[in-house]
Amino acid sequence: ATAAPLLKLERAVVRYGALQALGGIDLEVRAGEIVTLIGANGAGKSSTLKAISGLCKLSAGAITFDGKPLHGLAAERRIAAGIALAPEGRQLFPMLTVRDNLMIGRFSHIRAAGFGNLFRPGAAAAREVEAAMREVLDFFPRLAERIDQQAGTLSGGEGQMVAIGRALMSRPKLLMLDEPSFGLAPRVTREILELLPRLAERGIAVLLVEQNAHAALQVADRGYVLANGAIVAHGSGEELLQSSHVGEAYLGWQ
Ligand code: ATP
Repeated sequence: ATAAPLLKLERAVVRYGALQALGGIDLEVRAGEIVTLIGANGAGKSSTLKAISGLCKLSAGAITFDGKPLHGLAAERRIAAGIALAPEGRQLFPMLTVRDNLMIGRFSHIRAAGFGNLFRPGAAAAREVEAAMREVLDFFPRLAERIDQQAGTLSGGEGQMVAIGRALMSRPKLLMLDEPSFGLAPRVTREILELLPRLAERGIAVLLVEQNAHAALQVADRGYVLANGAIVAHGSGEELLQSSHVGEAYLGWQ
């Protein structure tokens, strides 16, 4: 038998007032798996990630993570439970250094542990922060070289590395990425997406939201296609890449 999924959405519904953005979707991510959620503008991809990270509420349905329901759990508690998000548009603090942007990824932990000031944590928290920082800089040597540089002066690819690194600072079991290719050249997009299997090897599951379906399916183990708030197809990355029906009907492939 296969192990229980790390993340499970069951009939998940998200509404914004009268508008239903997600119409009751089922989705699973298993430990160490790379899963991509693809679909056109406004299909509901970001809403799915927001519902999982607790940034918007489910109107109906359920989300289970690591065997426990997430219902009623605040966003920062979900980070402590092992869910991290690299959000759409990266959302870095341009005037802060790379180091300080990364530190922010540890903020909810330090606060939950009662250590008060993010930049003057207690000894135990400081060791944890150092260990997380070492892992991130080991994973992104390019950031180690630019650790004191202001984030606003980084290239697009480097900025995306900071957004991912900041998410990794919480040492998540699940890393969610919202449109990491945004504003990046195809070569840089590939460079970023090729990092994901290396994270999966370290036991981190990845849920990747992308408009760039081709590139996403090439690195994903499995994919879900979302249209108008509903899952209209799912399968292995390979299967979806080869499905001309899915491509033509939902992804704009010629
Ligand atoms: P994109 O790729 O353009 O970001 P998406 O697939 O991520 O699209 P969502 O951002 O989840 O789609 O949006 C789904 C639908 O919900 C859209 O019709 C959008 O206009 C609507 N929506 C999203 N956020 C809100 C909000 N805060 N208030 C009202 N409507 C919203």
